[in-house]
Amino acid sequence: MGLYDILSAHNTVYSHHVPKDGMTTGELRAAASGADIYLSSVNGLSEDGEIINIDAQGNRVSSTLYGHRRVFLVIGENKLAPDHDKALWRARNIAGPLNARRLGRKTPCTAKADRCYDCRSPERICRELVVLWQCPIGMDIDIVLIHEKLGYRGHSK
Ligand code: SF4
Repeated sequence: MGLYDILSAHNTVYSHHVPKDGMTTGELRAAASGADIYLSSVNGLSEDGEIINIDAQGNRVSSTLYGHRRVFLVIGENKLAPDHDKALWRARNIAGPLNARRLGRKTPCTAKADRCYDCRSPERICRELVVLWQCPIGMDIDIVLIHEKLGYRGHSK
């Protein structure tokens, strides 16, 4: 969406995907975790409001739980699923394999990116699952649901 460039014009922005001031990716993750405002998407959203995220290091999912004055979750309509089970299926079988492929991981899902193989690979990226039933107490989360297909689209069940 080009948000990094747009936001960087008037704000200090940290993303471990974008090199900055000689910082390591670990330092960039830590700086983002300490930011006033956090921006992310999600891996699945059920029509009754459950938000599902799977993560590798945990920095992204932890930032949806605690520590920021305000969180924005920007979500394309393709992340919507009728219920919890289908949203979780999407997170595991579409977002996971495509993300593993993007990162060049040696996991069984990357060749065809057709489904999750629930691997035990040392390169497995799916290591934590967070389901938000409601906004955590003390958090201020804005959901920005966009009537477009964004992020990983993949196939449907
Ligand atoms: S658990 Fe393993 S096989 Fe499944 S999506 Fe994650 S990396 Fe791929």
